[in-house]
Amino acid sequence: MPFAQFPGNEKVKEILRLALRRKKLPRSLILVDSSGGGADRLAQILAQAVNCLQQQDDACGLCANCQAIEAGRFPDVLVVEPEKEIIRVEKIREVKRLAYLKPMIGRYRVFIIRQSEKMNEQAANTFLKVLEEPPASTLFILLTANPYLLLPTIRSRCQELHLAPLPREMLEKYLTQAGKDKNEARLLAYLAKGDIEEILKFDLQELRPKRENLWELVKSCLQEGPFSVRIKEYTSLGKHHRLLWLEALEIMASFWRDILLMKLRAPEELMINYDFREEIKRISSVVSIEIAEKSLKWLDQAAEDIKKNLNIQVIINSYLSRYQGQDNA
Ligand SMILES: [Zn+2]
Repeated sequence: MPFAQFPGNEKVKEILRLALRRKKLPRSLILVDSSGGGADRLAQILAQAVNCLQQQDDACGLCANCQAIEAGRFPDVLVVEPEKEIIRVEKIREVKRLAYLKPMIGRYRVFIIRQSEKMNEQAANTFLKVLEEPPASTLFILLTANPYLLLPTIRSRCQELHLAPLPREMLEKYLTQAGKDKNEARLLAYLAKGDIEEILKFDLQELRPKRENLWELVKSCLQEGPFSVRIKEYTSLGKHHRLLWLEALEIMASFWRDILLMKLRAPEELMINYDFREEIKRISSVVSIEIAEKSLKWLDQAAEDIKKNLNIQVIINSYLSRYQGQDNA
């Protein structure tokens, strides 16, 4: 796939193409991707570009090399990934052995190391030795969501490029082009994480029960009564699953955003949770703009606190208790 077809991250693509054109591409790169910028895909494009038979600074996507890499059957491109959450030294020893051999058919041997922060100590040290004596026609592409977990000595020998997540509008456009219905594309662009191919496989039905529960929680915030019971119910769900709670808060924020949009008489087709639209319209008629705006602010604060590693139960309790004594309507 040519760089131009890779959505977003224009700057990163420009840097890479320029380096290719000037034959200055670093032999070891770290692609940092913490929120679905598509690092895996970009690594593949780069592996194609250095081996493309037609182009010097891009992947044509059509030549024999580009196609073989796309199909995962090019002998000079090797993908390494953790097994049971660990990249063991045996794998890196194999990388080391191959790295010093001439490419079989391409110009470069390319090693793409997924979740590279999962190398154990021995593996990381072995890999460091390779970086210290870089082989001639080899390109290492380390993928990670968290470069801080890599050995500092590895990081300092690689060029690091940070990928930004795909803007939501752009993602939405891609999803519609890929054949998704407009409403579904909007919801997916908001809820699903990962790169475009993963998102296309995302099963919205699976998330539906969770969204229903969270919608109940949003509504319960506005009612007097069995409040403490709900707090208990929700905090018992999983005090330790930070990522799940972040997702939950994001879903709740999407409901509040929709309520606010309806209060502001925005067109219905801007609604994220289109499948809840009747309910959302009903609730929006009984709450104030002020409480919808506050809710979004409070949810934001709660998400920040969760990221800071504060106690989840305390955060959620404090979020929910903000509604007490508020004049919701
Ligand atoms: Zn090509």
